[in-house]
Amino acid sequence: MSNKTIIIGGGIIGLSLGWQLARKGEEVEIYESGRAGTGASYAAAGMLAPQAEMGFEDIELFYLCRKSLEMYSRFSEELFADSGILVEAERTGCILPAFDRDDNERLRRLYDFREKIGMPVVWLSGTEAREVEPFLSPRCTGAIWINDDAQINNRKLLEALKIAFQKCGGKLFENHKVEEIIFADGKTSGVIVNDKEVYCTNVVVAGGSWSKQIGGLPENLLPQVRPVKGQIINLKLNDSCRVTKVVRAPDVYLLPKSDGRLILGASVEEMGFDVDPTAGEIFRLLERGWEAVPSIYDLPIESIDVGLRPGSRDHMPIIGDSDVEGLFFATGHYRNGILLTPITAYELSGWIQTGNSSEALKGFGISRFYEETA
Ligand SMILES: Cc1cc2nc3c(=O)[nH]c(=O)nc-3n(C[C@H](O)[C@H](O)[C@H](O)COP(=O)(O)OP(=O)(O)OC[C@H]3O[C@@H](n4cnc5c(N)ncnc54)[C@H](O)[C@@H]3O)c2cc1C
Repeated sequence: MSNKTIIIGGGIIGLSLGWQLARKGEEVEIYESGRAGTGASYAAAGMLAPQAEMGFEDIELFYLCRKSLEMYSRFSEELFADSGILVEAERTGCILPAFDRDDNERLRRLYDFREKIGMPVVWLSGTEAREVEPFLSPRCTGAIWINDDAQINNRKLLEALKIAFQKCGGKLFENHKVEEIIFADGKTSGVIVNDKEVYCTNVVVAGGSWSKQIGGLPENLLPQVRPVKGQIINLKLNDSCRVTKVVRAPDVYLLPKSDGRLILGASVEEMGFDVDPTAGEIFRLLERGWEAVPSIYDLPIESIDVGLRPGSRDHMPIIGDSDVEGLFFATGHYRNGILLTPITAYELSGWIQTGNSSEALKGFGISRFYEETA
């Protein structure tokens, strides 16, 4: 049998990996239980912000994210060639404002840490911050400015990926839920979908928050991924409020999109698979958003979206092979799945095609969890 790869899940991770494999001439099928591109990948804000996102402990993840951001221009060019749709990272820049002494001290620590590791960050006074983003509250006492962070239209990206994947010869099966992965002679041999066995040489688990529910996986290879609920509000920008920079205020971000939305996000909730928008979180986002940019008060509300981030136990992605031949994982991308799309797709497609593991993905495989319990 020639090599054939089945990808479970048609989110941004499954679609981009499938597209890269198909463009390398590999036989690929994606099985998606609902409609492709409607999970977390659709609800996401689309920030590509390794420098603003990073906490003190995440240095390995930060380097992975930064490498992925650098790959976005090549990714966009190839995607345009294969889909005819141009979706590019926009370098909007990002401002992190402080509104009181506590915020100021917290930001100072973040600033010092970033400066120490050589990131191009700038400290602004309150007045300077409002020159950069005039819609910021006059209460702003200081801010960090990050010029390099970017954002992308993730919804357009999903449309383009679907087209590109199929144009390159990939087969997409929507409304096809994979019930089980099957194995023979200690190797991966296929999946069961709609009570039928479909054979292949490689299976990639890219089921986002649902990855752990896929049947057939041995206990030690169940990806420890849980859903982390995120609610966002889509406001419609108008002349009363034309924010142009990404504002990452304490507990809320405001993200102007080129399609005219201003996204206010996002809640981070441990609520299992619940996807109902709730009054309390929406109230909190609006209140914190209004404190940072008071003129959002008069903006119309377009919609509210809810998505489930796939969070692993250590909040790092799970990407790579396993100790069962032909079984791969691309899940657990948590808050950075849109940002980590290019590096996941390029590095894992190369790995699957050549059998040579990826240096860039070292340390992010599922084996880190079974090494822990051994
Ligand atoms: C509110 C919010 C804001 C976010 N903002 C950002 C951001 O600004 N920047 C950023 O980088 N990231 C962001 N993220 C995170 C990002 O959205 C996720 O990390 C990313 O979308 C994960 O992609 P995925 O393909 O793994 O998951 P999903 O998009 O959820 O796709 C998984 C798919 O697998 C399918 N599936 C599951 N099980 C099966 C099965 N058994 N058979 C067939 N199909 C199956 C599901 O139906 C689903 O369509 C945000 C997330 C949320 C919720």
